[in-house]
Amino acid sequence: GPVPKSANSTASVTPPPGELEDDNVAYYIKKKLNVWCRQPKGKWERGTIQSTSGEKASVSLLNGNVMKVSRLELLPANPDILEGVDDLIHLSYLNEPSVLHNLQFRYSQDIIYSKAGPILIALNPFKDVHVYGNDLLSAYRQRTIDSPHVYAMADAAYNEMIRDEVNQSIIISGESGSGKTETAKIAMQYLAALGGGSCGIENEVLQTNFILEAFGNAKTSRNDNSSRFGKLIEIHFSTLGKICGAKIQTFLLEKSRVVQLANGERSYHIFYQLCAGSSADLRERLNLRVASEYKYLNQSDCMTIDGVDDAKNFHQLMKALDVVRMSIEDQKHVFKMLAAILWLGNISFNAADNENHIEVVKDEAVTTAALLMGCSSQELMTALSTRKIQAGKDTIAKMLTLRQAIDTRDALAKFIYANLFDWLVEQVNKSLEVGKRRTGRSISILDIYGFESFQKNSFEQFCINYANERLQQHFNRHLFKLEQEDYELDGVDWTKVDFDDNQECLDLFEKKPLGLLSLLDEESNFPRASDLTLANKLKQHLNANPCFKEEMGRAFSVRHYAGEVLYDTNGFLEKNRDPLPSDSIQLLSSCTCELLRLFSKTLNHSQKQSNSFHAGSLDSKKQSVGTKFKGQLFKLMNQLESTTPHFIRCIKPNTKQLPGIYDEDLVLQQLKCCGVLEVVRISRAGYPTRMMHQEFARRYGFLLSEVNTSQDPLSISVSVLQQFNIPPEMYQVGFTKLYLRTGQIGALEDKRKQFL
Ligand code: ADP
Ligand code: MG
Repeated sequence: GPVPKSANSTASVTPPPGELEDDNVAYYIKKKLNVWCRQPKGKWERGTIQSTSGEKASVSLLNGNVMKVSRLELLPANPDILEGVDDLIHLSYLNEPSVLHNLQFRYSQDIIYSKAGPILIALNPFKDVHVYGNDLLSAYRQRTIDSPHVYAMADAAYNEMIRDEVNQSIIISGESGSGKTETAKIAMQYLAALGGGSCGIENEVLQTNFILEAFGNAKTSRNDNSSRFGKLIEIHFSTLGKICGAKIQTFLLEKSRVVQLANGERSYHIFYQLCAGSSADLRERLNLRVASEYKYLNQSDCMTIDGVDDAKNFHQLMKALDVVRMSIEDQKHVFKMLAAILWLGNISFNAADNENHIEVVKDEAVTTAALLMGCSSQELMTALSTRKIQAGKDTIAKMLTLRQAIDTRDALAKFIYANLFDWLVEQVNKSLEVGKRRTGRSISILDIYGFESFQKNSFEQFCINYANERLQQHFNRHLFKLEQEDYELDGVDWTKVDFDDNQECLDLFEKKPLGLLSLLDEESNFPRASDLTLANKLKQHLNANPCFKEEMGRAFSVRHYAGEVLYDTNGFLEKNRDPLPSDSIQLLSSCTCELLRLFSKTLNHSQKQSNSFHAGSLDSKKQSVGTKFKGQLFKLMNQLESTTPHFIRCIKPNTKQLPGIYDEDLVLQQLKCCGVLEVVRISRAGYPTRMMHQEFARRYGFLLSEVNTSQDPLSISVSVLQQFNIPPEMYQVGFTKLYLRTGQIGALEDKRKQFL
């Protein structure tokens, strides 16, 4: 039936090698055709075959060396005329070395954008490549340039929105540091220039980037300006095609960064900006110190970023807050909360007895934090050092251990920051919501973390990769639909074209009650559950799913579309429960700071009643992090499904964040992860080469040995195919076009050359 085949989603995404078989090796030798030859270290080099003997071939490499290799180490290379084509689909051979080489060839000339069928590939140049700005913007607008570019894609989205009256989406993915956020901004700039001019709202939309980045971005080991959240920005256009408003949705902010930093990484930019750039007056009101005096900031030995002026950025941030019309009063609240978090981090504890219990050190940190939060120092100290427990009719206060106290303090800081972030986004949204005239259409830009696979993968990667499975399915289905439409219109039997879907992997995550997320929630409800009991539970119930793989101890693996990932369940339960003790919630609800009281209300009543924190169970009414994320993701997918999608895959050519370095292995791994090779594979499964009959007949008709009396291009095309014994499964004849499997046109080109 006409549905994507839900076959083995674990199939390798590596395309099968193009053919280099016995009967054509001789031809390759004679014609000195290019081949790829795998070097002992796995790198592919280009050359030509000199001779063969048995299973070995002698290859003369471009660098002059001659190598003897197994014939299995050879792949066909593309003819020179295809060097650096701007769409990979035009390559006759879509093997890995060909794809890698084509992108590298372009990258070395600062051509960072290429297409792979419907996907735009963007290689991060890590330098200014001078392909942006007003002149280019209008050139793309007027179609005087059509080489692949974010502008071209944004333009296509805009035009389709107007023409088809359908909402559009631009889905950007890639790993950290690959350029997603910059690409999103470039797309937004194009749309702002195109749809600007109605009320200045486009400038407001652009300014929101600065606010979101100050609060949601940080320096990591992989990117000096890494977004630690996913975002969807919906840009609304009036019926006249002018921007009239926008709405931002965010996903999964990395809260742990507020309290814990890896070496060489920083917390969120805003903390350093505030410390470096606030006025004397503000400093006094917040009792603010330099950043290095705060434990939440100084634990990682990294206070500044090369080329970044935190003080200057603070002023720009304040301007951006003005642009989105945040009141001075609200701005003060925000800065107060930030300072409160910093001072919370400086609160320390002393041993109180011989049973590991602690008491809070009454110093400047506690008094300042309490003052900023709007509670008494005593209330804060009690909330951080004790826990109320119900004993019959009485409530008794139990003292906390050092570990418990630190966790309580950090949970409070994380809670305040995460709520502050959400609140800010809400304020920005209020300001961007221009009128309620939702008559027009929208373009949504999704900037979301790509697939991640590290040596050690935790709950964060688990969620991110789950999201990427969903996006991949969306992508596959869209692509399949496009192919299908094209074939159907041209009268081609497309049932012969199908590809793997990743439904099985999604089932592994989502099935109730026996899926990863459900089982995780179930285990999160058991007070005595541990990482090990979780791992065992997963193994016990999920072994039958082919995407699940049992591992030693606390670990398990998932076979994702982009490869197998090993997850360590260490910390899964805690991160999924994400608890805040009821004592802290009560404290927040009694603070004089309005924002804190507001935040405390986001937690439903039932959690306030429970004493669940250290008992480690999840209140039945409180949503777990995993379940909440799944809900967000479903909403996102629903939104995206009603749009025409446009895909951009960002690729990081090296991990040094430096220009001019193209690390083949790194690029290859990303091409696999972001589905580019998958597209190539899907295209191979279909008929990627499409030529109008006229064009085909004109180019190859003269090769016919017998003159075809009919002048009909279609029958000339068919005669050519028959004369050269192209097997029928290698092509389809449509009403207007000829559809050829990969590699077929290369062979015909070679024949043609023989005659010329
Ligand atoms: P991601 O959002 O994927 O983590 P970013 O968009 O933050 O990555 O990009 C990381 C860095 O790479 C940027 O700070 C910038 O220095 C560089 N970069 C990304 N895209 C471009 C581009 N198109 N031109 C120049 N530099 C870029
Ligand atoms: Mg980013």
